Amino acid sequence: DTIGANLARAVELYGERDALVDIPSGRRWTYAEFGRSVEEVALGLMAKGVAKGDRVGIWAVNCPEWVLLQYATARIGAIMVNINPAYRVHELRYVLQQAGISVLVASTEHKTSDYRRMVEQVRSACSALRDVIYIGDRTWDMLVRAGADVAPGRLAERESRIGCDDAVNIQYTSGTTGFPKGATLSHHSILNNGFFVGETVRYTAQDRICVPVPFYHCFGMVMGNLAATTHGACVVIPAPTFDAVATLSAVERERCTSLYGVPTMFIAELALPDFATFDLTSLRTGIMAGSPCPVEVMRRVVDEMHMAEVSICYGMTETSPVSTQTRPDDDLMRRTSTVGRVLPHVEVKIVDPVTGATVPHGTRGELCTRGYSVMLGYWQEPERTAEAIDSARWMHTGDLAVMDDEGYVQIVGRIKDMIVRGGENVYPREIEEFLHTHPKVADVQVVGVPDEKYGEEILACVILREGARTLTRDELARFCRGRLAHYKVPRYLRLMDAFPMTVSGKVRKVELRETAARELL
Ligand code: ATP
Ligand code: MG
Repeated sequence: DTIGANLARAVELYGERDALVDIPSGRRWTYAEFGRSVEEVALGLMAKGVAKGDRVGIWAVNCPEWVLLQYATARIGAIMVNINPAYRVHELRYVLQQAGISVLVASTEHKTSDYRRMVEQVRSACSALRDVIYIGDRTWDMLVRAGADVAPGRLAERESRIGCDDAVNIQYTSGTTGFPKGATLSHHSILNNGFFVGETVRYTAQDRICVPVPFYHCFGMVMGNLAATTHGACVVIPAPTFDAVATLSAVERERCTSLYGVPTMFIAELALPDFATFDLTSLRTGIMAGSPCPVEVMRRVVDEMHMAEVSICYGMTETSPVSTQTRPDDDLMRRTSTVGRVLPHVEVKIVDPVTGATVPHGTRGELCTRGYSVMLGYWQEPERTAEAIDSARWMHTGDLAVMDDEGYVQIVGRIKDMIVRGGENVYPREIEEFLHTHPKVADVQVVGVPDEKYGEEILACVILREGARTLTRDELARFCRGRLAHYKVPRYLRLMDAFPMTVSGKVRKVELRETAARELL
């Protein structure tokens, strides 16, 4: 199906049920209303001359218009380009030019970001850019009104020319390991992925999903919005950007049944001083994804947030995004320590990164995946596409994983993050898991730093728990002694207030590594 056809069916089946709730503005849409609003925006874009295959950019923090635009662009066969709301002038100009965006929809401002000013600064340098529409401004109202002049027959005619294998979206990767890459995805790939992810967590039209993760990233727009509309569930937007208090308040007020987040978000919510005062009893499930989750955090999410059926997803933007997922009926040990098994209609194999041969169960190797979910390619970057997807259509993820006899996958780290200390391979994740059990540690990241003797040495960056005043290297070493092989014990310790993050909530290890390397020189 196309995303437009799928939405039409949802409107028919779930018309009077809630589709979208925006807590900050108090606005809400039933499926019938949502379908109508999407159509207005779709017609408005057609009135602006947006043709099939044209790129429409969205540069905005979470808001209902983001979701309307997602479905409106899909209905008219345009390709929506998600632009990172953390970008500044230089990066914005790059994306606008690289993707040849003709219409840009943007937030006006949020916190310290003056989006309007930045857009006006780059506008003249982007020759393809014809129109800029600001959300919440009269330009948005004009867009919606302009659609009234378009004959409805034209939309039907347009829709008849859209195929499910057409590109619908260019999504950028998080930029965790370098400059983000624009993955081009089709209707078929993201719609199916959203559907299967929702199936696994057993969504029905009764579900209300709290989405504090950015829509700009696949987690919000596919695992959130598309999983919801393929099941008649409702999306609740707690705030424009992540806010732990707003998130838990939204769950309580809207009686949400599902809550999303990357591990750092759950860690922040659990650490709120008044955490226990929120009524989270409506929660049943939720999805955690994006980076490894410490087992200890997972246990608290299940016990203290009532998310008995919480599911872990593993995937990447390039694969729509999810490849493996834990199921509510997997045993708890599996659900906390693995990323589950492969989704239907997707293949996964673990290979030796050097020889490319499939490794036996229980052996570490690079995870590769193949199926409907693999992107069409990086937008206008055939060389980089060829590096990532081989001639047999396997996507090479750059992630190190182990698969057990029953097909459960464990992610042990990224090839790029692996530390080689004195010839010994050290996996930061393993050390992080262990240090999380230290009573003074709220969060921890382990990276390799250059060392003359060993090639690399191990640095632990620690955020202390509230109340813990200090932690020394010796204290940490004593804690590790006898419980962690000597070569895995961090040589350096650095106390921090916060880690450098991507907008999707991942720690930028590259930056930790670079800063530390500079300081140790
Ligand atoms: P970039 O490719 O730009 O460096 P990125 O890889 O972080 O950034 P995304 O596509 O957002 O961009 O994230 C995909 C990656 O996130 C995966 O390749 C994997 O390393 C990590 N990841 C996703 N889910 C999980 C998970 N459940 N457990 C561990 N790691 C995960
Ligand atoms: Mg990546």
